[in-house]
Amino acid sequence: MEVREYVEQVQKNLAAKDPNQEEFLQAVEEFLPAVIPFLEEHPEYVEKNILEIILEPERMIQFRVPWQDDAGNWQVNRGYRVQFNSALGPYKGGLRFHPSVNLSILKFLGFEQIFKNSLTDLPIGGGKGGSDFDPKKKSDSEIMRFCQSFMTELAKHIGPNLDVPAGDIGVGGREIGYLFGQYKRLREYDMGVLTGKPLGFNGSLGRTEATGYGAVYFVKHLLEDREDSFEGKKVLVSGSGNVAIYAIEKAHELGARVITCSDSNGYIYDEEGIDLDLLKDIKEVRRERLTEYVKERSSAEYYEGSVWEFEIDADIALPCATQNEIDGKKAEILVKNGVKVVAEGANMPSTMDAVKLYLEKGILYGSGKAANAGGVAVSALEMSQNSQRLAWTKEEVDSKLDGIMKNIYETCRDTAEKYAEKDNFAAGANIAGFEKVAAAMLAQGL
Ligand code: GLU
Repeated sequence: MEVREYVEQVQKNLAAKDPNQEEFLQAVEEFLPAVIPFLEEHPEYVEKNILEIILEPERMIQFRVPWQDDAGNWQVNRGYRVQFNSALGPYKGGLRFHPSVNLSILKFLGFEQIFKNSLTDLPIGGGKGGSDFDPKKKSDSEIMRFCQSFMTELAKHIGPNLDVPAGDIGVGGREIGYLFGQYKRLREYDMGVLTGKPLGFNGSLGRTEATGYGAVYFVKHLLEDREDSFEGKKVLVSGSGNVAIYAIEKAHELGARVITCSDSNGYIYDEEGIDLDLLKDIKEVRRERLTEYVKERSSAEYYEGSVWEFEIDADIALPCATQNEIDGKKAEILVKNGVKVVAEGANMPSTMDAVKLYLEKGILYGSGKAANAGGVAVSALEMSQNSQRLAWTKEEVDSKLDGIMKNIYETCRDTAEKYAEKDNFAAGANIAGFEKVAAAMLAQGL
C-alpha cells in the first residue's frame, strides 16, 4: 500500500471510531499528512502500523470529583487523565480546569504533548488531564476543596516515574500547592510528582515564566537566523494568563512593543505598550478582569470581542489564549495587518484554515508544539532538580530554556528542509517530534 493511502486509512479508521471528538480529530488531521514524507523514507514504521498504535492513548482515566461549595451544597465535576504515550519517559503534561474540558480536548492536548515533549529532547512522555470545573468566581476554600477531592482519585494513578502532572489553563501555583498537599497526605513527600510547584517548596525558578519566555525565544532565534530581532517590532498578544504575561515581559525586554492582550470577553489596545506591572497586579494579585486595566491607564482602550478581529499594523502575533482562537477569517486580518511571524504560546490556537493561509502567504509560523514547549521543558528541569535535591539559579534555568528553544527552532528548520519545504516549521515540528517517539516505540516492541 502507498504510504499516503495508509495514512488516509488510519485517519478514516480514527474518525469512524471517534466521530464526536472534534478537537482530537483536528489535531490528528494536522499531524498525519505532515509525516508522510518521513514515512516514505522509513517504511518500517508503516510495516509496524506505528501510526494507528500512536493514536491510541495507553490509558485514560475518568473519575467523579465531588466537592462542597461554601453554601454547603454538594457539587460534582468530571476529572480526567489521559496517559497518552510513555515511549520517552513518564507521562508529562498539564491539568486544565475549565468548563469546556472534555475527553476530546484532553486527547488533542495529550496528543500534541507527546511530540512537544519529544522536541525538548528531555526524558518525558505525553499526557494531559483536568476537569470541567470552572474556577472563575470560586472562593479560595472552594478551590482548595476541589483540588483535594480531585487529587484523592488522581493520586492512585500518578507518581514521579509514572505520570507527572503540572498546570495549564485554570491551574497555577495555588492549585498545584493544594494538589500537592493532598498527594503528600495520601502518599509521601514525592516532590517530583507534580511540577509548577511554588518556589517555597521545591518548584523551579523560571517555571512560571517559561512558556511565555520560551515562545519569545523561539521567535528570537527565528529572527536571528534572518539577521533580524525583536527591537522595534509591534507585537499582538492574546490572552492575559501566565503564558501571555511572560511573553509580553520577554518581548518588551528584547525591545519590542506589545500593544494588545485579551480575556474571554474582550481585549485591550494600549498604543504605548502594555503596562506589565498594572496587568500583573490585575490578573495575578487582584484576579480581576481586563476592563479594570483601561480604568487605570489613559493610553489604553477596551473592546469587546476577539483581538484577532482588530485591524492594526503589526509585525508579530503571539496567540497565547486557547485552541481555535484564530480561524481562516481572522488569519486574513492578520495578513492585512502585515504580520510576518506567528508563534503559538497556546495549544492549537490556529485552525487548519488559518495555518493554510499562513503558509500560502509566507508568514513564518511556529506551531504550539514547538513554540510553547518552553513550559514543559522547564517542568522537566524542575524534575531534574527535584531528583538531585538541588535548586538551580534563575540564570541557569533561563539559559537552559533559551538553549532548548534554539535547538527546537533549528530542529524544526532543518527537519522541514529535509522532508517538507523550507520554512515549514510546523511540518518540521511534527516530523522531528514523531521521529524520536516512533523510534523508541519500535525499539521497545509491542
Ligand atoms: N500545560 C503546559 C503545556 O501545555 C505545561 C505542561 C507541563 O509543564 O507539564 O505544555
